[in-house]
Amino acid sequence: MDKPDVLILGAGPAGLSAGIYTARSGLATVIYEKGLPGGLANTTDIIANYPGFPENISGMDLGERMRKQAEQFGAVIVGSEVKRLWREGDEIHAQVGEETVIARSAIVATGSVPKRLGVPGEAELVGRGVSYCATCDGPLYGGKLTAVIGGGDSALQEALFLSRFASKVTVIHRRNELRGTAILQTAVRKSPKIELALDKNVKTIDGTGVVTGVTVEDKKTGSEETIPADGIFIYVGYNPSVEMLGPEFERTDTGFLITGADLATSVPGVFAAGDVRDKVLKQVVTAAGDGAVAAISVYEYLEGAWNMP
Ligand code: NAP
Repeated sequence: MDKPDVLILGAGPAGLSAGIYTARSGLATVIYEKGLPGGLANTTDIIANYPGFPENISGMDLGERMRKQAEQFGAVIVGSEVKRLWREGDEIHAQVGEETVIARSAIVATGSVPKRLGVPGEAELVGRGVSYCATCDGPLYGGKLTAVIGGGDSALQEALFLSRFASKVTVIHRRNELRGTAILQTAVRKSPKIELALDKNVKTIDGTGVVTGVTVEDKKTGSEETIPADGIFIYVGYNPSVEMLGPEFERTDTGFLITGADLATSVPGVFAAGDVRDKVLKQVVTAAGDGAVAAISVYEYLEGAWNMP
């Protein structure tokens, strides 16, 4: 492809949905993905709230269907990482490996990555009992003791998933109330396998070679205890994947891209879609919706550019 009309960074639900729309509109579309198409949704066992799948669908299967659909319309998916993205004149430049790819526009749909807790023992024990993906690693903990750190939707959803295998799941949260939606809170409270440890700060993740437990401090009394666990699953939020962007891209204090209603970033010709941008509801369905909006905005932006004398 000579000069793509649009480069899409990321082949998660936002990027693939954008690719379906841009390619179907006849725009030459290249999607760059450094991992597997499907994005973070790949790490979700069951997606129960994406319309059209009353029988439920796994994140992996949904991603695969979206990939097929984008390719059917002519989007080209390239398995490479965009290291830097910037505007030069009227063009968008992307550094991919040693090469600079030049396009007319871009959509950043790079999503976000799990935050680290930052306590002693965490980094040393990743892959030895510390995990950021219950869907991937949960089945390894059949009949074992597990703990989930966090109190949001991710923590509660993954605690429920783990309760299918583990003998016990302790949800450790730093406040005395959970943050997750009511439906997940109710399900967690009903589960005989899930125990809540509220008002607890995690001090250390313990174990030599493999995880044996997690030491927490009670925020009210200051007393410390070690909760035994073979597996510790950390869900304390996400950081946006924006390393490829310079300071000309306006973002929030926490790094999420600020966009207008048309999903334009502060850099003309570059749009953003999905979890990488500052938005209220981060779900597969809203990521897919973002992809469609960003794609139409790209189309209108390019039409304007083409019509220029
Ligand atoms: P989140 O809503 O930001 O929750 C992060 C949780 O981690 C909060 O409970 C927070 O505590 C806690 N936390 C943050 N930093 C911590 C630290 N240093 N130590 C201990 N605890 C810490 O993140 P999320 O649950 O990953 O959800 C992200 C987005 O995805 C949300 O918009 C969510 O609705 C969406 N999502 C939806 C579903 C679903 O609908 N089924 C599933 C997964 C995710 P505080 O409460 O004290 O801040």
